[in-house]
Amino acid sequence: MPIIYPSYLENNKDFVYDICIIGAGLSGQIVASNIKDKKIILIDSGKINFSKEVQDLNKIEMGGLKFREEFTNRVRQLGGSANMWANQLMFLDKYEIEDRHWLGENLSWPVGYDELKKNYSEIIFNLYGKSLENPFDKVSDRNFYSTLENEFLNEKNISLVNCIWPNKVEKFNIHSKFTKKIIHNKNIHFISNFTATDFHINENIEKLTEVTFLSENKKISIKANTFVLACGAIENARILLNNQSKFKILDNKNIGKYFMDHININLGYIKSKNKLPLSILFGMKYRKFDIRKCIKFSENFQKEKGILSCHSYIDPVYEKNDEDIFWNLLKEIKKFIRLKGIPKLELKKMNFRKTIEQLYFRVPPQVSNSILNSFLRSILCSNKNYLSFNKLKIFFQGEQLPNVNSKIYLSQKRDRYNQNIAIVDWKLDKIDYQSQNEFIEILSKKFKSHEFLNFETNSNMKILDVSHHSGTTRMSNNKNDGVVDKNCKYHGLKNLYICGSSVFKTIGSGNTGLSIMAISNRLGNYLNENLN
Ligand SMILES: Cc1cc2nc3c(=O)[nH]c(=O)nc-3n(C[C@H](O)[C@H](O)[C@H](O)COP(=O)(O)OP(=O)(O)OC[C@H]3O[C@@H](n4cnc5c(N)ncnc54)[C@H](O)[C@@H]3O)c2cc1C
Repeated sequence: MPIIYPSYLENNKDFVYDICIIGAGLSGQIVASNIKDKKIILIDSGKINFSKEVQDLNKIEMGGLKFREEFTNRVRQLGGSANMWANQLMFLDKYEIEDRHWLGENLSWPVGYDELKKNYSEIIFNLYGKSLENPFDKVSDRNFYSTLENEFLNEKNISLVNCIWPNKVEKFNIHSKFTKKIIHNKNIHFISNFTATDFHINENIEKLTEVTFLSENKKISIKANTFVLACGAIENARILLNNQSKFKILDNKNIGKYFMDHININLGYIKSKNKLPLSILFGMKYRKFDIRKCIKFSENFQKEKGILSCHSYIDPVYEKNDEDIFWNLLKEIKKFIRLKGIPKLELKKMNFRKTIEQLYFRVPPQVSNSILNSFLRSILCSNKNYLSFNKLKIFFQGEQLPNVNSKIYLSQKRDRYNQNIAIVDWKLDKIDYQSQNEFIEILSKKFKSHEFLNFETNSNMKILDVSHHSGTTRMSNNKNDGVVDKNCKYHGLKNLYICGSSVFKTIGSGNTGLSIMAISNRLGNYLNENLN
């Protein structure tokens, strides 16, 4: 009976689980998947399918910079935000978790890179059933690079990094094999639509004993020997902050501080005299995974300039007409997938090639499923000169320096479970803006006297977020500098672990998902080996 109902818990009030994992996004699920022979309960506030009502529990107020409005930045549902993600995977570079003295303070993680690397490989294998050839070797095969990448190969200040798209988009929801295996595991009880609210700590103030969960008009309390909080970087901090007034031990001054996201900016455009076929854009290459190449400043260049990590990637620019065609095609494809039949004839009227390609690049969350994605990838990868563009957009993704003034704190407003909602006060520092200017300079120089490409700066640059929320319960060797230790255990409590990007001390420039999975994999292994 792996998916359980509240009545089961009501009848077994005194049952003590070995582990209670709060939050069944990718982080909570990966922790659960690694623990053997223990009685686990995995509880998510979200339902199995998306519900607007439950999603409202994610409401936040914005203090500093605003998140983009058109974008759902988190999801409350089994699988969490992975329901919406593009599943683009990037590795942190070694120096990004080590001391970069040029940034002032020592920002090294208590976890070594070898360990992270081992967990990257393990999780990629476990989830996608494949190992990446030389995933850490960035310049292994020059024939692999496209013409545009070759433009940068001999630039000493630039390195090329991989952004990986697995063929199968893993969403960690009810359609995922990985998730089904977890929630049907005989040792794991899974319960949805129950939201963690109140903590209970023992008299000696050394252990969490139980946690209260609410759902509409129901209330349950879960007792466990060990608890793992895996609710995402905003909610992890919010839950702790909401319990701070009751328990002095939760009064760690770092909770909610050092909130980080990546800075995303459209820097400008590359225009070409000739049409550029899709196959020469960054990334249209295929091996076991699709790999989009990004250009990144080398470690030495960052050191020389005293800047943070950042990278840039390129997308084609579409005309309005293409967009309309795209949305129509999307509708048709959705029908096609649902009916498992042949698409309606209207498809013929559309520019099939163009729109298919757009689907590929945008990977819209509404449609990305494994069948569709592998279909699109195989079409695109087997056609060398499929489409062509005159104009390409350059995006910049930059790291944010941990900043004590960038933080999550509580509003006076409460949600329907009487929990104070979170205010996200996203603030940037002067240094966060510096790498972007360096990038513009490099691109302008590079293409200034180019034979057929030129670079034009975007006159209307805006800073956007990318939903890579991190840092709010960061790892540290002691509680003055962070919230959890190197094993993700809360400083000061024996049995509370926190997982996800909230424990990251720095975020490098790559998307955070793969590192969240690696850290969760590591925590799962640790608990498996260390709990009696
Ligand atoms: C549109 C979009 C696209 C993205 N694309 C990428 C990408 O391509 N690559 C990448 O690396 N990253 C991407 N990300 C970020 C990535 O999806 C997240 O970093 C990742 O999913 C976080 O996983 P998590 O398990 O730590 O947290 P979450 O996914 O937030 O999961 C937390 C879970 O906890 C539950 N929960 C919350 N509060 C409570 C509570 N009080 N009690 C019980 N349960 C609770 C939630 O319902 C949720 O299921 C994207 C994000 C978005 C929104």
